[in-house]
Amino acid sequence: RAKASGRNTFCLYNSSMDTKATEQLHLESKMREALGNSEFTLHYQPQFDLQSGQIIGAEALVRWRHPELGLVPPGKFIPVAENSGLIVEMGEWIVFEACRQAKEWQSLGLGNLVMGINISPIQFRRGDVEQLVTSALNATGLAPELIELELTESLLLEDSQHLKVILRNLRQLGLRFSIDDFGTGYSNLSYLKHFEVERLKIDQSFIRRLTEDAHDEAIVRAIIQVANSLKLQLIAEGIEDQASLTRLIELGCEQGQGYLWSPALPADEFQQFVIRHQTSRAS
Ligand code: C2E
Ligand code: MG
Ligand code: MG
Ligand code: MG
Repeated sequence: RAKASGRNTFCLYNSSMDTKATEQLHLESKMREALGNSEFTLHYQPQFDLQSGQIIGAEALVRWRHPELGLVPPGKFIPVAENSGLIVEMGEWIVFEACRQAKEWQSLGLGNLVMGINISPIQFRRGDVEQLVTSALNATGLAPELIELELTESLLLEDSQHLKVILRNLRQLGLRFSIDDFGTGYSNLSYLKHFEVERLKIDQSFIRRLTEDAHDEAIVRAIIQVANSLKLQLIAEGIEDQASLTRLIELGCEQGQGYLWSPALPADEFQQFVIRHQTSRAS
């Protein structure tokens, strides 16, 4: 919207007067305010078992309800939050809110939906993720098995002893882990030996042209083989059409999420979506 109108989304004042750095500082202070004003919100995208059609979980995706700009997608502000370190505080709110919501849905009888939470590598380096998750679980009473932390390949390639200890402790608590955007980062898969994860998430860039591009299909096949050999669950992100879904099922992919079913929804709409879905499957 802002791009189309020729104005940069975050030029809240004349950018020609300012350096990029000033702009970032400005945005950062806006985000700090936004955290205090509860302007951030989580939307939830349903995840499906492709064979049974059942909803198995949700991915929590943060949005900024900006008073003037409207709903701002995370791609516009997460990088700034990461550069400024504000991602730690924002990530704390995200983890607490996602756990609270997961517990609420479980209490409402929506089922044992696993809540996927994206964790920035910066948060792992600068924040105390172990302490954070522990206190969120205690505060909400959510079972650790219902949380899946989505990690990036770049984080796991750091080969840090500190990180290994944190992840091992969190696993011992019963948390699940997945690797987000799998296949985009590195061809070096050695980290899969050192870090136990439950699930790989095939990046949507391989799914988008799956039925038209033989290379993308070859990559998806290879990823499915890796997951099968390592006995990991696998979910495809960004499934937008029936043809891709059919192809993915043929190739042996077991789980998926994407606009074919639903974009990420506000909590109340997600809840309605799940209830409608369950009702229509039961009848
Ligand atoms: P991601 O974790 O890989 O999330 C998937 C993105 O793909 C989401 O974009 C989702 O809305 C979008 N998506 C889902 N299905 C489809 C589809 O069928 N077609 C297309 N074209 N897109 C689809 P979103 O919400 O804009 O998030 C973008 C990225 O921002 C995320 O990528 C993640 O890296 C980051 N992010 C989002 N929420 C959080 C958060 O709470 N914490 C952190 N640290 N990062 C977040
Ligand atoms: Mg994700
Ligand atoms: Mg992803
Ligand atoms: Mg991504």
